[in-house]
Amino acid sequence: MGRKKSRRRGDFGGGKSIDCKGNEEAKSVGIPIGVRSRLTYPLVVDDDDDEDESVVMVIRPRFVFVSSLCAVCSKRSRLFCERCRMVSYCSAKHRTQGLAKHGELCVPLGEIRASIASISRDLDPEEYRVYRLELLARLESRIARPLELWEKEIVLYPRVCRLCRRFSEKEICCADCGMEIFCAEHSDEHKTWCEQFQVYQRFLFLQRNHDDCVAPKIPNVRERMFVASAERSFDELMRKLYGNWSKYYREMDCYTYCTLSHMCTIPLTALYSMQISCPEWESKLEWTVHVVGAEFEFEGVNLRVWEKLFLHFLPNLRRLRLVLIGPELRLPSGVPRELLSTVKVCNACQAAGKTVRVSFKPETLYHEFVSRDEPDLICAFNPGLYRKTGFAGRDTWFETIRVFCGKSVPVAVTSYTADEMLWEIARINSVANVEVLLEPRQNPYASIKPDRNFVTDNSNPLIYKNYHIVVIKGKSVLL
Ligand SMILES: [Zn+2]
Ligand SMILES: [Zn+2]
Ligand SMILES: [Zn+2]
Ligand SMILES: [Zn+2]
Ligand SMILES: [Zn+2]
Repeated sequence: MGRKKSRRRGDFGGGKSIDCKGNEEAKSVGIPIGVRSRLTYPLVVDDDDDEDESVVMVIRPRFVFVSSLCAVCSKRSRLFCERCRMVSYCSAKHRTQGLAKHGELCVPLGEIRASIASISRDLDPEEYRVYRLELLARLESRIARPLELWEKEIVLYPRVCRLCRRFSEKEICCADCGMEIFCAEHSDEHKTWCEQFQVYQRFLFLQRNHDDCVAPKIPNVRERMFVASAERSFDELMRKLYGNWSKYYREMDCYTYCTLSHMCTIPLTALYSMQISCPEWESKLEWTVHVVGAEFEFEGVNLRVWEKLFLHFLPNLRRLRLVLIGPELRLPSGVPRELLSTVKVCNACQAAGKTVRVSFKPETLYHEFVSRDEPDLICAFNPGLYRKTGFAGRDTWFETIRVFCGKSVPVAVTSYTADEMLWEIARINSVANVEVLLEPRQNPYASIKPDRNFVTDNSNPLIYKNYHIVVIKGKSVLL
């Protein structure tokens, strides 16, 4: 992790960026450019002059292991490690380099491959998940150190057909995405995910081969914005905010665009929930959001998006207050708390006395947190309320659900998949009577950055943050 001077965020509002080049582009005016259209775009270069001197936290992304991508450079691979056949490479040169990196694991990985091949076909999807976790635990005890995340991925996502787990030389790696391995019988199942895998492959490749972290320019538009209308989506909103003629918008590559949506989903999902659950949203002068189960790496960085995509859209709002709370919220050491929670706002907001104030309540369970002011909205982004051993092997959600359902405040809960949302709702209903303010649905402001899934990998190999959403309000607590 490091600190990075942010680049100037240009003003993209209302067609101010002039870059008219001719009729061909004029035809495309008004059509949002989705992530799949951006697959072949080279990494967009932000060459604006520095003007904004604010300091933003940048978290360097970690290496993600995919069995069919080179373990050194994330290009499509053509060679295996000859000993374990669990790790692959684009070239002999990278194979030699890579062996040094996974050498310690190579022999045990070969044994793991053999045991997956002999046992896994007889297991149901849940048993197969448990089995892979056991293999991990055994591997860790054998090498007597905790595995890094990318090393765990070698075992969690082995080179087999995801559905029938056959290990054979006949298995096919998809020629279009180069990401999934499947047997002839399950190629149709892969096809339904292939385009999303193509995005993920491009994302990982650009991420691996770009020295710096991408810092997408957040659109800077100050006008009333109603984001809860039926036809709005992330793509549509971005087209409107950047303006039809913004060169930056038109050229944004798939990695930058996914990263942009990953940042924007947080304030936009909160704004969407606010506009659905609070009829007086437009006239509010102050607004307090509690973010429950927050993680620094997701909700704690890029706090300036709250100014750009929340405060700027509510002309009457003067004070936005955020409280980030969670047992897994850990602040980076060596950075003053003051610096982490200061959100520098633009000159226009400063002149109007508008502020975004953030407080962190690290390593704190929501039901242990005593708040001075009641929130206007509670957000739980991808919390996994259904997990009864969610934190340190304990069921801490039960008390937290009781507390947030006891407040008579709208609560937005999101999940990674549609199935998971059903489990979340069942869990809430087992603890409290609630009024549903927004029926569960696909969130129009979900992140479009794919991630691999382990929890339900047989049905959903890829998942997205804030994919499904429900907004509820507690009526009474049952127990
Ligand atoms: Zn390579
Ligand atoms: Zn090996
Ligand atoms: Zn299969
Ligand atoms: Zn494919
Ligand atoms: Zn501002």
